[in-house]
Amino acid sequence: MATHEVQNQAPPLVGYNVFDTDAPLREAVEREGAGWALPLLSDFGGRCGSEEVIRWGFQANENPPVLHTHDRYGNRRDEVEFHPAYHHLMRLSIEAGIHSLPWENERRGAHVARAALLYLATQADAGHTCPVSMTYAAIPALRREPSAAAQWEPMMLRRSYDPSFRPAPLKSGVTIGMAMTEKQGGSDVRANSTRAEAEGAGYRVTGHKWFCSAPMCDAFLVLAQAPGGLACFLMPRWQPDGSRNRFHLQRLKNKLGNRSNASSEVEFDNAWAWRIGEEGRGVATIIEMVNHTRLDCVVGAAGLMRQALTLVLHHAAHRRAFGRLLAEQPLMRNVLADLSIECEAATVMAMRLARAFDHGEPFGRTAAAVSKFWLGKRCPAAVGEALECLGGNGYVEDSGMPRLFRESPLLSIWEGSGNVIALDILRALKREPESFDALRAEIRASHDRRVLGLADDIDAMVMRGLQEEDARLLGERLAIALQASLLTRFSPEPVADAFVRTRVEQQGGRVFGTLPGDSGGILRRAERNATANALMG
Ligand SMILES: Cc1cc2nc3c(=O)[nH]c(=O)nc-3n(C[C@H](O)[C@H](O)[C@H](O)COP(=O)(O)OP(=O)(O)OC[C@H]3O[C@@H](n4cnc5c(N)ncnc54)[C@H](O)[C@@H]3O)c2cc1C
Repeated sequence: MATHEVQNQAPPLVGYNVFDTDAPLREAVEREGAGWALPLLSDFGGRCGSEEVIRWGFQANENPPVLHTHDRYGNRRDEVEFHPAYHHLMRLSIEAGIHSLPWENERRGAHVARAALLYLATQADAGHTCPVSMTYAAIPALRREPSAAAQWEPMMLRRSYDPSFRPAPLKSGVTIGMAMTEKQGGSDVRANSTRAEAEGAGYRVTGHKWFCSAPMCDAFLVLAQAPGGLACFLMPRWQPDGSRNRFHLQRLKNKLGNRSNASSEVEFDNAWAWRIGEEGRGVATIIEMVNHTRLDCVVGAAGLMRQALTLVLHHAAHRRAFGRLLAEQPLMRNVLADLSIECEAATVMAMRLARAFDHGEPFGRTAAAVSKFWLGKRCPAAVGEALECLGGNGYVEDSGMPRLFRESPLLSIWEGSGNVIALDILRALKREPESFDALRAEIRASHDRRVLGLADDIDAMVMRGLQEEDARLLGERLAIALQASLLTRFSPEPVADAFVRTRVEQQGGRVFGTLPGDSGGILRRAERNATANALMG
């Protein structure tokens, strides 16, 4: 036998439809009010699973962005150069309207449809979704300043990706970033030291930002101290007179993951900016943006978990060990089933949250924090377990797993790290009782007595009085209760029951793959992927 004959390896997973093969996502999209988007999601899912787009995802991460601070003569350039694959991915997502869909005509269900598009695009490459998400999220904050919105919103809504470095009015489409975090103050943005002084119709801003992702965006929402207190500004890369703004890129971060996306350190040297909202209301203004990027952290985490699950189901359906497919081994089936219910819980949670944005529900504010806190924690755990399911292959870049694994902790860090988010949940309890009560009501919509029992426990916990150190436990319980409520109402009984038994009643162990009982029903549902037929047994 030739030594180079390859046996017992899974074939490449390409040419599949990322949307059509995801039953929980399809059902959630329809249930949450975006049934009209099913055809376009199916088209987009086909693109995201195509060999070409999957290759772009690898190329964009293997060839990370390069910073050019100066030209050969010593003039400042402040430009980042990306691999063509990154631009292809950006064009794909922008032409699909992931940056704009809900703001184009405010159609009911548009936030849900857009969230589903983002969930699919994340599976091609998570990094490029950062500027796409920030552009979407910037619109509600920008609307606080009608004159700035009148000028920028039409440019932001165009479904045209234009990577050229020119003044925004000359471009066919623009993207928007955000710069809050400074060296001495990230979560604690009130410690920002960047200063802004009024000049004519705008402001001059001087200072630095320690994290500024996607610095080739056309403008950034920035926080700076104005005479009247911390304020939010829109800072374009080019000044209104057509000259370059004094927005200097110092270096790019050498990051754990998220490598296709550039994250920079920037200095503003008397840079020109528009004020958005009032002086002293900077946090209140930019929080409009952060609420929407938090939704995207939730959707992104669910998308990463789904991608990991898909890779695992595919591998297990083709790889044999000890005379049987991995997908036929009882213990592996338990792991696959457990990952499947975790993933479904994440998907239903993300899509329910997206609907809250469609309807402006108070539920959305607390649920966004609860969901971000929880999926931020569950995503690395689930992706790590999935990586192991591929054995040694999972530890190797070609499998795609290391990229997912490196990306997975990020959703928990940016837009509010775990503790900060947990404290937000506690704050909502005290300052936004209407939102907190809406979340409680959503949980109590379940008729499962075990879920209602958990709701009672949470109420008792709240009644006893909560301190800061209790915030994580509150976040965890609320998240599990919300997921359990959604699953018991909308998912098949084997999925919901296994979730409730293990996550609510705490039967089973602390690692994945400790579900009690038979997992066949769960796996039959998980297996909607034509490449994983072996699971049907
Ligand atoms: C890849 C990447 C890209 C980014 N891109 C951007 C960007 O484009 N724009 C931007 O503005 N920022 C960006 N950030 C920054 C990110 O938002 C911050 O890193 C994050 O908000 C945390 O802030 P920090 O790093 O200052 O940490 P800190 O605020 O110092 O927090 C450190 C730890 O302390 C915890 N902590 C903080 N306060 C409390 C408290 N009161 N009680 C208990 N624990 C607490 C936090 O949860 C965290 O675990 C990016 C970060 C990364 C990793």
